[in-house]
Amino acid sequence: MNILVISDIHSNFSALEAVLQDAGHFDALWCLGDIVGYGPDPNQCIETVAAFENLHCLIGNHDQAALGNIPLTRFNNDASSAAAWTMERLRDDNRAFLENLPALIEEDPFILAHGSPRNPMWEYVLDPFLAERNLNQMKHNYALVGHTHLQLAFHQDENKQTQSVMIEEGAWFQLQPRMILNPGSVGQPRDLDRRAAYALLDLDNLRWQPHRVHYDISSVQMRMLDSGLPERQALRLSVGW
Ligand code: ZN
Repeated sequence: MNILVISDIHSNFSALEAVLQDAGHFDALWCLGDIVGYGPDPNQCIETVAAFENLHCLIGNHDQAALGNIPLTRFNNDASSAAAWTMERLRDDNRAFLENLPALIEEDPFILAHGSPRNPMWEYVLDPFLAERNLNQMKHNYALVGHTHLQLAFHQDENKQTQSVMIEEGAWFQLQPRMILNPGSVGQPRDLDRRAAYALLDLDNLRWQPHRVHYDISSVQMRMLDSGLPERQALRLSVGW
């Protein structure tokens, strides 16, 4: 069973469409949160994700902000004005979909969290130190996280030493027990690679395959500027930061 694992779509429908096409056949979709925020297509992105029958989907901090559950002062200027913009435009059915999303999903041997298993809404698992703090507390062998907008992997060995693992794009990586994996961001990558990011998970053989795919960035930027979203947020897509 192949699972498409995505995160941080951030209302970028062009990127989501490219990922769904590039992924080919998959049996289930696992979405690790932040469907909305920053981008111009919140309703299209939510309804596309919600249409999958075999779906695990988490709520992210930007989804919470668009629902009015987090004070916008917790975000920087651009993020909070994009959240206010999104809040005004969310359709009722899409708002209801977001409202019903959980912060954590357990699907043994995996736990799914937007930020981290111990702090699903806010923690950025950016380095082996923070990965280790989570791995030490995890009862599941694997955590899938988003939130950093970076394709990352961490492994903890039998001696509790935790290291970053580099996994080649498009190659199957055999998972070893005790890992935290991040598929990267669909709609706003931040590793200076502007291509949309996602990963495939082969659940039967416990293998992980990170991917990147080009999409029509300028059409998204045009929609953002036309609808009055912050220009800086449009420009960053060209660079991937
Ligand atoms: Zn995000």
